[in-house]
Amino acid sequence: MSASHSANTIQTASTNEHYPHLFEPLDLGFTTLKNRLVMGSMHTGLEDRFYNYGKLAAYFAERAKGGVAMMITGGISPNREGWLLPAGGTMNTKADVINHQRVTRAVHKHDSKIIMQILHSGRYGYHPFAVSSSPIKSPISPFKPRKMSIKNIEQTVKDYARSAKLAKQAGYDGVEIMGSEGYLLNQFLSSHVNKRKDIYGGDIYGRMKFAVDVVKAVREATGEDFIILFRLSVIDLVKDGNVMDEVITVAKALEEAGVTIMNTGIGWHEARVPTIVTSVPRAAFVDFTAEIKKHINIPMMAANRINMPETAEEIVATGQADMIQMARPFLADAHWVNKAKNGQTDRINTCIACNQACLDHTFENKRSTCLVNPQACYETELVYKKTKKPKKVAVIGGGVAGMSAAHVAALRGHDVTLFEAKDVLGGQFNYAKVIPGKEEFFETIRYYINELEHLGVEIKLNTKVDKEMLEKAKFHHVIVATGVVPRSLEGKLEGAELPQVMSYAELLSGEKAVGNTVAVIGAGGIGFDVSEYLTANHGQSLDEIGPDGLKDPSYRPEPQSISEWREEWGVTNDTDYQSDGGLVRPAAIKPIRQVYLMQRSKGRLGSGLNKTSGWVHRAHIKSHGVIQVAGVQYDKITNEGIWVTNPQGQSQLLRVDSVVVCAGQESVVELMPNVGDAPDAQYHLIGGAKLAAELDAKRAIRDGAEVAAAI
Ligand code: NAP
Ligand code: SF4
Repeated sequence: MSASHSANTIQTASTNEHYPHLFEPLDLGFTTLKNRLVMGSMHTGLEDRFYNYGKLAAYFAERAKGGVAMMITGGISPNREGWLLPAGGTMNTKADVINHQRVTRAVHKHDSKIIMQILHSGRYGYHPFAVSSSPIKSPISPFKPRKMSIKNIEQTVKDYARSAKLAKQAGYDGVEIMGSEGYLLNQFLSSHVNKRKDIYGGDIYGRMKFAVDVVKAVREATGEDFIILFRLSVIDLVKDGNVMDEVITVAKALEEAGVTIMNTGIGWHEARVPTIVTSVPRAAFVDFTAEIKKHINIPMMAANRINMPETAEEIVATGQADMIQMARPFLADAHWVNKAKNGQTDRINTCIACNQACLDHTFENKRSTCLVNPQACYETELVYKKTKKPKKVAVIGGGVAGMSAAHVAALRGHDVTLFEAKDVLGGQFNYAKVIPGKEEFFETIRYYINELEHLGVEIKLNTKVDKEMLEKAKFHHVIVATGVVPRSLEGKLEGAELPQVMSYAELLSGEKAVGNTVAVIGAGGIGFDVSEYLTANHGQSLDEIGPDGLKDPSYRPEPQSISEWREEWGVTNDTDYQSDGGLVRPAAIKPIRQVYLMQRSKGRLGSGLNKTSGWVHRAHIKSHGVIQVAGVQYDKITNEGIWVTNPQGQSQLLRVDSVVVCAGQESVVELMPNVGDAPDAQYHLIGGAKLAAELDAKRAIRDGAEVAAAI
């Protein structure tokens, strides 16, 4: 299929028996993409410093080897004003060209294409040189931008063109012009920020002039045989954002100006609607992409919360988009494409959209990696070398730390036995997957179970190991990943032993049921999860899931429907939307229970939650009527409820049917040898068993991989 008549023709299919539409090549006229799968732009933190370009090249090369047709780099600024952070990555000079050549050469060795994204941050720049269409500060940067003069805009157009020309010299197959997510060009396109009265403001024709000029200048500077992608905000999700007719007008003008492929952007970074966190249903926005596609003749790419081949195939097969862009799924699994191509979907390490090791790291100014794949962005540092001396390895505990250790040890050729006391693998992830909006956590359990089976790891369920047994079996290495138990308040709080009091584990495993009014003790990540679980009126109840469902690692709870989710968050269900930015009034929510979420410390609840997803959890419990109580002292639990002393020193009874304790965890370390013992095997302690205070799946999986990589 050639690009010039791609858009509304019936989709043709390749001979791939698993995902025929995904593996149909795409002819762009001057070049061909080998399949429809593209790795979208992600800031990894490696692109900002020239001495990290070797690591960046290895990161892209691994994904090129994995079969992806095309990749887009993290945002590279066309000039100093466009930096995201002080001294961010640029493409301005010959020296930049030489650094970037390391990346493009590494990718081209593996028959993939690479596109450099040109990103001007505008008012999202975290530095004093920030500029924008109008001098309106963004809620996510402390720096108020300067209004760009016409001369400044014209110079910036030239800077884009020069960057693109240098990108071509550096060996890139094209550039992507970032025009969405609220960055500079989006700040001109939409009246949310653009309040100008000159030729770059006013109606949509004025507001789009800058973006159109940039595309024309880039096309002129780079010639016809160069891919130009434009990332278009198909729905702004902010007040005074564009309506669909305006988005279509922009798309048509950009096509006319010389764009080769139109990419999808969803929502500004400052939008109060989540767009990529795990609770957003898969492919939640694809119909907006499909709407634009009807009006243009160049290929259109779908994006956001697409992470598995079935979803991607359906989008292309039904003609909603010509191509699929995924970013985080390629951090999670560099070989996603080849696995899909070979029908090994069950062996894909799925991105669970947690953001914990990628976007949260970006906001903390740390190198990105991936919670489920600690090798991501550490390709040259965390290497799983085949062992020359296979050893007998015992891993005790089948949570994610243990499964990660067993996986890497077996990959390296060791003889691994994994012991689990319960009748199911997955540990704490089995609780996470039943939280409404966290269904994706199921995929990690599925991935590890399949990998361990494939690698021939001996799995012994229902096996409580003791020290004697371990010593007798003569292992060379024992990896103790026995995890944590929920902290009990029995003996610490009067009434904690009553039958209506339970741990979060007892609640989420279906061992105990709650009434209509519930007090949750402890407002950490799990207190929030439990409050959401208790109040959400979507998803399945434990009664529906049943005990077998909970124990069945292949069981994936049903996620919320797209239309219901959009109603809840105030996103239009109408693809022809005429409301600003596609926003509508959120539906009123009737929570199914009354929940009190409590903490002893003063201050806002949930302040310790992760940067990119914490606000979503806080908004959820607010909209679901959870009563938040800070600065309390717990006095006693009785059959009437829970007695607390409030911050004003008054004693108060909260009349509740049940109390769920989410007061953190304690490590289980009894299998570690005592000081002075000299066991035959070498012992290693990992995950929550090592440090319960910061029970954290990201650290648990990395711990497991690092220990197993070193034995
Ligand atoms: P946590 O974050 O440590 O929170 C436990 C809360 O219980 C504390 O905030 C503490 O608050 C309270 N607490 C501690 N000891 C107590 C005691 N003796 N009596 C009464 N209250 C007590 O632990 P978590 O919620 O179990 O989460 C564990 C980890 O899981 C987190 O660190 C996070 O990494 C991860 N996680 C994150 C998410 C998410 O981001 N959505 C979800 C689940 C899990 P006060 O001292 O103020 O009362
Ligand atoms: Fe996906 Fe989480 Fe990995 Fe980021 S850290 S790529 S969101 S699984």
